[in-house]
Amino acid sequence: MIIVMRADLAAESPDLDRVVALARTFPGVTTEVRRIQGATRSVTEVYLLGPTHVVPSTPFEEFESVEKVVRITQRYRFIGRHDAGLEAVGFEYNGVFLSQDTFHVLPGLCAVDTLEHVDRTFAALAALGIITARAGAYKPRSSPYDFQGLGKACLPWVFERAGRHGIKMIAMEVTHEDHIDEIRAALKDTGFATGVMLQVGTRNAQNFELLKAVGAQTELPVLFKRGMGITLEESLNACEYVASGGNRRIVFCLRGVKTHLGDPHRNFVDFAHVPVVKRQTRLPVCVDPSHSVGRRSAGPDGLLDIFHVTCQGVIAGANMVLVDIHPAPDEALCDGPQALRLEELSAFMEDVRIARAAYEARRARLTPR
Ligand code: PEP
Ligand code: MN
Repeated sequence: MIIVMRADLAAESPDLDRVVALARTFPGVTTEVRRIQGATRSVTEVYLLGPTHVVPSTPFEEFESVEKVVRITQRYRFIGRHDAGLEAVGFEYNGVFLSQDTFHVLPGLCAVDTLEHVDRTFAALAALGIITARAGAYKPRSSPYDFQGLGKACLPWVFERAGRHGIKMIAMEVTHEDHIDEIRAALKDTGFATGVMLQVGTRNAQNFELLKAVGAQTELPVLFKRGMGITLEESLNACEYVASGGNRRIVFCLRGVKTHLGDPHRNFVDFAHVPVVKRQTRLPVCVDPSHSVGRRSAGPDGLLDIFHVTCQGVIAGANMVLVDIHPAPDEALCDGPQALRLEELSAFMEDVRIARAAYEARRARLTPR
């Protein structure tokens, strides 16, 4: 059961204490107060955990500062909307707001290779006013003989260069819980020059110990990538591992699913699930066109499949785009064939802007004037 307090409730409001005290009078019921600083307002929610089916709603609804009482449905306890009872307020991280209404593009290197490439990539982003990026330091590869990423050795200079170019948040995959500590230490050592969103999956989408580890810390948000060979429901349950551990700052990323039915694309594009995830959960939704398509082919219209697929996700309401770019794709140590060139970034961003504007126009048509 979740008690949603009225918006912008003062932290010291006596009603909050009274609601918590009342909840605790029910046998076996524990409480957790959650204050969410959303993109436009702050919301306070009191989670009642335990045998709440016998707890009545009415005594809570009588409090002036209680907005509503929402019964938790069994599925997706922490990330779910619970029959639309909860809104998706989103969250803030290092000055970046993320919600089901915001929109950000995170271009960057699939795998960090050289300082020069990192610097040129971040500079290209900065030139277009982009403050969010991707950069891989720990790479899960199908073959043990392939480049595994530079690991913690590259973190200091990646973070320092990011800070120099005004990058506020880098999506970076972790494949082991030690990587979380390494990233946190390097951020501290560089005076928090930038911020990191911890990426988990696709390969580790059901590595439950790793999910628990990223969920047990609340300093860094999580970008969860849908498992490539499991159902959407299984992937959303994996996010519950993160959220139930305490970290609710999660973005859900669609990156295609593995089946030869998607050939010649690397994965079968699943961006039709953007509205599904937004409806079933409170999570902002990201799309990764690079790992979905996996190649640089273009249509007869001259637009790369990666551009087309990105716009399909964006026009459906995606909140983030994760895209591989590289200053010299031929020299990339990982996923070069799917990387956009730096000189293509501006056209890509323009294409994305058109799709986002189209999404907003579609949405505005539904809003009564
Ligand atoms: C990545 O984002 O670098 C990556 C490896 O993607 P995925 O896990 O979706 O294949
Ligand atoms: Mn990759």
